[in-house]
Amino acid sequence: MKINNVVVIGSGTMGSGIAAHLCNANIPVTLLDLKTEISKKAREKILNSRPPLLLDKSKINDIEVGNIFDDFDLLKKADWIVEAVVERIDIKQNLYEKIFKNRKEGSIVSSNTSSIPIKVLSQNLSEKDKKDFCITHFFNPVRYMGLLEIVKNENNDLNKINFLKDFCETLLGKGAIICNDTPGFLGNRVGVYAMQIAMTEAFKMKLSVEEADSVFGRPMGIPKTGVFGLYDLIGIDLMVDVLKSFIKELPLSDKFHEVAKEIPLIKKLIETGYTGRKGKGGFYRINKSDGKKILEALDLETGNYSITKKINIKSDKVDIQKLISRNDKYGEYAWSVISKIIKYASSLIPTITKEFNDIDEAMRLGFNWNKGPFEMLEEIGVKNFFKKIDNFENNEFLNNLSKTMNEDFYGERQKYTTIETLGKIKRQAVITDKNDSAEIYRFKDFNIVEFTTKANALDYDSMDCLKKATDKPLIIINESMQFSAGVNLNYVMDFANKKDSKSIEKFIKYFQDTCKHLKYCENPVISAPSGLTLGGGFEVLVQSNFVTSHTNIVMGLVETIVGLIPAGGGCKEMLWRWSQTEEGKKDPDYAPLKVFDIIRYAKTANSPVEAEPLKFLKIEDKKIMNRNSLLPEARKILEQNKNFIPPKECKFKLSGEKVRKKMLDSLEKLYNEKKILDHGLEVGKELAYVLSGGKTDLTKEISEDDLFKLELDAFMKLVETQKTQDRINHTLSTGKPLVN
Ligand code: NAD
Repeated sequence: MKINNVVVIGSGTMGSGIAAHLCNANIPVTLLDLKTEISKKAREKILNSRPPLLLDKSKINDIEVGNIFDDFDLLKKADWIVEAVVERIDIKQNLYEKIFKNRKEGSIVSSNTSSIPIKVLSQNLSEKDKKDFCITHFFNPVRYMGLLEIVKNENNDLNKINFLKDFCETLLGKGAIICNDTPGFLGNRVGVYAMQIAMTEAFKMKLSVEEADSVFGRPMGIPKTGVFGLYDLIGIDLMVDVLKSFIKELPLSDKFHEVAKEIPLIKKLIETGYTGRKGKGGFYRINKSDGKKILEALDLETGNYSITKKINIKSDKVDIQKLISRNDKYGEYAWSVISKIIKYASSLIPTITKEFNDIDEAMRLGFNWNKGPFEMLEEIGVKNFFKKIDNFENNEFLNNLSKTMNEDFYGERQKYTTIETLGKIKRQAVITDKNDSAEIYRFKDFNIVEFTTKANALDYDSMDCLKKATDKPLIIINESMQFSAGVNLNYVMDFANKKDSKSIEKFIKYFQDTCKHLKYCENPVISAPSGLTLGGGFEVLVQSNFVTSHTNIVMGLVETIVGLIPAGGGCKEMLWRWSQTEEGKKDPDYAPLKVFDIIRYAKTANSPVEAEPLKFLKIEDKKIMNRNSLLPEARKILEQNKNFIPPKECKFKLSGEKVRKKMLDSLEKLYNEKKILDHGLEVGKELAYVLSGGKTDLTKEISEDDLFKLELDAFMKLVETQKTQDRINHTLSTGKPLVN
């Protein structure tokens, strides 16, 4: 069987996301809705989506549109029909009647329902049709969320289910987990319970909204939106509907009921239009006062809003053991929430799945958790857990574990896939070195470096690990969301605040030395990015010998935003790449002007399709839909380069003042048009000096080291200015750029 053509019915949030993602995989797709106008609008929404749902926006018209009345014939061509209409049983069932009358024999029909069981959806289908019907539960936004739950029951043809899983894994890049037909499947069953327990315990323990979110967030390896922030994001009214459907489906004995009771404050919020971000606000709201936007949080006792308080629980790293051992209300809250999540998740084994590991992976892929409940249990330690926990009756999994007390109960990871993922390899590899910012794993005859800081921001320690790890072929890859958001600006500002320029200079020099070493050392170095690959993170990548890139990336040199210029070889390497183009070889000013434009505007690419024209990625770099395949693809490159020869050092010829004048003219124009202010002009001038080669002309050859020196000098000049420091501080405290 093959899937050459897909029809998606329902062009709302999910249907349009699924259609866009099929388009990303170059699979012909048609999007149908009640009216063609609705699916046309959906196409516009796809085009303007943020983050972008399409890898390549120019392909938008590859998504055909139509309506279910005039265009139903198209179903005859489709190998897979995905239903993503409103969550109403009657509407879905009526639609299936029509679909099964018109579909091609043997095609797969699936629903994207998040809460209706297959047995209900398919109750009116013939036995033959039931074989071809399943649930494919994608998560929003479809391009970015890794999880796809494929739900089957006893009526399904398992070969077909396995075929679909393989297709979704290979072509759509999804972490496809096959699940049983139980309420909420894996991800939502545990994920919604986790949200509910985090919320109800916060009420019980009288924690504020900000306090709860500061614990049930980064310190637990959970996205920083926390629980109340996530509630606002999803929609408070929608969450109530989700809970209602769980209450309806789950037996009374299920502990879910204890955390799904109606909360008067929430009822009142919904009644008054406080449904979350889409409404007037929710647990948080933005209040305008004197023309300024102020973030306020709800007082869970009084129901009044006041300005949010920053809570710093001083836990930068995910360390669950340490978190639950704290002797304060944050430690108590963390333990109460984590232990109950572990108890609940383990009570579902083997009913919802035999593989507890599937629950952990569903939480990673569908909720962006660092670790699932069973890995948290492993980290806490079995003995330690049972010392702290009270009762766990009727919990077969915990009962068994309490008898064996086996600390090594976990075993293999990512059992849902046969791909040799980073997660699997890490369990077999040996950690040969680690520090506060990175870890080195040795597996067979190569090393892996994984950065471990917040957003994988880079500092001296990160460089140390990279340098040490080049004693073998090296793959730089990580499991957390971002490859690296760039140099750790807090680290730089700590020195700047102490007026310790020497230490900043020493760090940048070491950064440069390391990147140069990555490029020219005798062993091949491969970067395998996913997510943010910005600034210093991009400089590591661009000076690696090979790249295998995930299709979900945000890539670029964004230093000018904080009043700096790339100084880890980013200017130099981009100059080299552009000078190697046909135009660059003909005209020595072509590359400097192009790169000036790219870096000055801090241009970023949201996919490899956007990264190639900017030369952030090369045509020969591997681009991969399935994040799990990054490591195996990188290993293939190592295999093909057993006799690796490092590249020759690059030499440059730049026209110095001649090209600099062109850059300065364009800056002057922007300044006069007030598109940039004083410091924008200053930063631009420094960048122009570096990219023009400084004091040089076309008769002279300059080396990579000369360019490194120019980058370093410009960086140091800028970092010492008050206006750059203002920009950095502003970005660190607000996450937004400062224009000065
Ligand atoms: P939505 O409300 O955004 O879109 C539903 C679309 O279906 C609308 O465009 C509507 O015009 C269309 N529609 C309604 N009846 C139709 C019919 N008979 N024929 C054709 N089109 C019809 O909904 P959504 O959020 O995209 O959800 C779709 C499905 O996906 C639901 O089953 C939902 O439970 C599930 N789901 C949603 C999310 C999410 O985050 N939104 C996540 C996972 C699963």
